[in-house]
Amino acid sequence: MKKTASKRGRAASKPLSLSRRTRPFRESVIREMTRIGAEVGGVNLAQGLPDFDPPRALLEALPRILADAKNHQYSYTWGSPELRRAVAEKCARFNGFQPDPVNEVTITCGVSEALVDAVLALTEPGDEVVILEPWYENYLPACVLAGVRPRFVPLSERDYTLDLPRLARAVTNKTRLMILNTPGNPSGRVLSREELSEIARLCQRFGVVAVVDEIYEHIWYEGHRHVSLASLPGMEDRTVTVSGLGKTYAVTGWRVGWATAAAPLTALIRKVHDYVTLCAPSPFQAAGCVALALPDSYYENLRREYAKRRTILLDALSRSGLAFTPPEGSYYVMVDAKALGWKDDWDFVDFLARKVGVLAVPGSSFYARRGGGKTRARVNFAKKEETLLEAARRFSKISLEFSARRVHP
Ligand code: PMP
Repeated sequence: MKKTASKRGRAASKPLSLSRRTRPFRESVIREMTRIGAEVGGVNLAQGLPDFDPPRALLEALPRILADAKNHQYSYTWGSPELRRAVAEKCARFNGFQPDPVNEVTITCGVSEALVDAVLALTEPGDEVVILEPWYENYLPACVLAGVRPRFVPLSERDYTLDLPRLARAVTNKTRLMILNTPGNPSGRVLSREELSEIARLCQRFGVVAVVDEIYEHIWYEGHRHVSLASLPGMEDRTVTVSGLGKTYAVTGWRVGWATAAAPLTALIRKVHDYVTLCAPSPFQAAGCVALALPDSYYENLRREYAKRRTILLDALSRSGLAFTPPEGSYYVMVDAKALGWKDDWDFVDFLARKVGVLAVPGSSFYARRGGGKTRARVNFAKKEETLLEAARRFSKISLEFSARRVHP
């Protein structure tokens, strides 16, 4: 920061000693990709946000909501009673469990806040937290802020299935939390009922709380179906389920999420929430009630549209020669460029941006372990059909560039 001109002389001042707390944080890779994008243009498949409109019913509700003066002030700290009731009803309708809206639902500023609240509220410094790898980038900073030790359990390199014996070895008496994400970013995995049952068994045996990020709960593809861990026997008192409006209704900028958990866990989560953000944006909580009242056909159509987008991107990727595991849910694909001769994910992503004209996220940013994701990159298909068709056209250059590189290495 520049100082403004001052007429007075400078008093002696003690040098600052800056805190090291955030030192383990990495610079968000998405920001770097946005910078490269601004430099070279290209189709942005890096950041996982939709480039299409939210449902019309939500847009039409906003003027009425904004005209109501009460929506311009703080809501009740734990979230408006109407939205908490709507979230509880949604859990009964789709997720197989029914939280009490009075003391088991907390509305937060997005899933991001719900996650940090849960980790800060439910751990003590020095505890261990099990995280499946590859992971969504917010989980690690949440652990750093809370002073807990993440213990990473790698999913299979081939298809991101869970290595249950390996998970069992990672959970010990020091484990306080397990952070899960299903459907997964960036893996695209939808954890099966069998995998979740084993996770439930471990949580019960070792007294572990599971924090499950279900932000993509409505986005899954044929042959798969989202199951909430909280619905499994014996898990209702030890599961924190976090989800939100952002992905299901294409409103990532509204910043409305929630955490549902048994009352004793919720009481702790609410203490953090109260002092961190006070409340989520009131107008968008009101609009959230409209979103959660949409009929089943909305969710069926959402899945149909995502299935179409997925087909466009996967077909293009298949033609390009890149390897990938088709996602079972969410809207991400991790591509592997090893067979095309790439050894470094940043070089590969730079090539994609500058030569192919598509922005992607380097695979290593989803791993803690050295060498993890080193030949991979993540792309997403939360995009209009025309954006994806343009990306597909550009991906066709990969095989041409590849043959050129083979001839002139
Ligand atoms: N969890 C996962 C798995 C995500 O992919 C994202 C966003 N990309 C978030 C949480 C963040 O959610 P929100 O925008 O509601 O804070």
